[in-house]
Amino acid sequence: MNTKLSLIILVVTALSLNSCASTPVSPMVPAPTTISPQMPVSILRENISHVVGPGETLWRISKMYDVRMEDIIRANSLRNAEKLEMGQRLLVPQAAPIKSVVPLYPSKKWKYIVIHHSATDIGNALQFFKAHKKRGFWRGLGYHFVIDNGTYGKADGQIEISPRWIKQQDGAHCKASRMNYKGIGICLVGNFSEERVSKQQMDSLIYLVDSLKKYYKIPTRNIMGHGRVPRARTECPGKYFPWEEFWLRLR
Ligand SMILES: [Zn+2]
Repeated sequence: MNTKLSLIILVVTALSLNSCASTPVSPMVPAPTTISPQMPVSILRENISHVVGPGETLWRISKMYDVRMEDIIRANSLRNAEKLEMGQRLLVPQAAPIKSVVPLYPSKKWKYIVIHHSATDIGNALQFFKAHKKRGFWRGLGYHFVIDNGTYGKADGQIEISPRWIKQQDGAHCKASRMNYKGIGICLVGNFSEERVSKQQMDSLIYLVDSLKKYYKIPTRNIMGHGRVPRARTECPGKYFPWEEFWLRLR
């Protein structure tokens, strides 16, 4: 793990998606490697209330807050820890500051990374999951990762992992050039045609893209904003997206 890399968290965004028909994916998803930024030496712990997001398990929540699973089970009198419900509220006792836990699955499927904005001022993965479901995406959230902006109870720069990523399924984020079948979809919460990307979101985006790029050996030319995908007709991720900084910082 690269200890220089910093924070993380996720969420998912909904607007400016192209609908897409997903094809069934092999039920055999290989075991992932997980990466996380290093915990600070001195940390302030507190009891926090966590709303279970799409695809989150007790194991993942335990890792995110550095709290033992049995402590969360006890604090919430959980009977069936395997069956957390999306939207369920959990007390996480003596939680460390949240960090993202990003799984990387061995795969030859991913050749591109496509960056989106939600085109909404607020949101998180759970909100987008519900919105996409309403729009007819039966798997819900169309992106693979969501990077939050500090709204809807999420930390600024938090990286949320979509169930599509955990199950290694096709995206529903960019129909053009068949990107849904070969591109990893990352959505930053915000409307960057009107506002700026926060520093925390940018730090997390660089960390995430850099990690995915290295792990899947994705060439830099295959990393692009939604609007740069051939035949895509969109301004996504917005005219104020800081491409110059992005390319400078990507190693
Ligand atoms: Zn987009």
